[in-house]
Parts: sequence; C-alpha cells; structure tokens
Amino acid sequence: MSSSPLVGVLALQGGFAAHEKVLQRLGARSCQVRVPADLDGLDALVMPGGESTVMTLGIEREALGDPLRAFAATGKPILGTCAGMIMLDRAHLGILDVVAERNAFGRQLHSFEADFEVDGVDGGPVHAIFIRAPWVAEYGPEVTVLAEVDGHPVAIRQDNLLALSFHPELTGEDRIHRLFLGLLPS
Ligand code: GLN
Repeated sequence: MSSSPLVGVLALQGGFAAHEKVLQRLGARSCQVRVPADLDGLDALVMPGGESTVMTLGIEREALGDPLRAFAATGKPILGTCAGMIMLDRAHLGILDVVAERNAFGRQLHSFEADFEVDGVDGGPVHAIFIRAPWVAEYGPEVTVLAEVDGHPVAIRQDNLLALSFHPELTGEDRIHRLFLGLLPS
C-alpha cells in the first residue's frame, strides 16, 4: 500500500467533514462515500456520528448495506463513532458483534465530556465528547473493550473494527485516528 492511505468517510449524513480534517492532518487521503462505487479502492472506512435512523434510510436508499458488509469482510479497517457504532451493530449492518443502545446515558442524554484511558492509546487520558451517545449493552467473544464509562463499554475493538460512543474528531484528539490508521497493513 502507498504511504498515504485512501480512507473513505460515509457522507450520507452527519459529522463526516470533521473526520476528513483529522485524517488529512495525519497524512491520509480522504474521500466521501455516498454510493457503492465510492467504496472501490479504499484502504479503510469511517462511519461518522449523526442520526442512525436517517443514516439507515440513506443506506437503504443507496443500496449500501451489502457493499458495506462486503467491505468489512475484506478485513480492511473500519472506525465507527457514535451513530457510526450503532450502524455497525447487530441490529443494523450486523458487522460488529455488539448491541449498541441508543441514547443510553440517561440524564446526560444530550451532551457531556469525560476524560479516561483508552487501551492502546498512549500519552494519558483521552478527552471525549459524548452527544446523545450510545453505549455497548452486549458484546460477543471476539470483542475487546478498550474503555468504559460508568461501567459501560464506550470504545471497543473487534479485529480491524474500532467503534466509539464518543467523538474524537471534535476535540483535536488525533490518537484515536492514529490507532485506526495503525490497523492498516504496513
Ligand atoms: N443519538 C444518535 C442516534 O441514535 C447518535 C448521536 C451521535 O451520533 N452523536 O443515532
């Protein structure tokens, strides 16, 4: 692979532009994915935050479900943040062996910030923004929990799939995207 990987960002709806900025800051090339052909030639994919109900409709409209599952089956890295985590779960695309519970944080439903360690991320706690965030309510044996908040998984890994309840693309935090790009074959 070239030294500058091409990373697609699902751009049907939601916070795709902020992910593109982080990826470009780290030296990757990024492009927006709206139809199945946009997946051709990608080295990795980001599923951004947004609104999972709207994203579900967009994926159905563009017939992106099977192409996204086929992309995941190649083993190429995928990063899902917030609604992106929901889209990857058992009840949606069925790519991750997790159940993501939508809007899970009760009284902190709308937005909050927290600092915590994420396994695999060196250099101190990650500063995380949660916006109407899900948590992982159930997960299968191939899933590793990388971070928890209030005893609930908020960052997980399954093979080359990373999923987060929060938004690393909004805090100037590059380390999560570095971890993601580090999953690419060298
Ligand atoms: N609550 C949203 C949903 O259910 C996710 C919020 C987000 O992505 N920031 O899809």
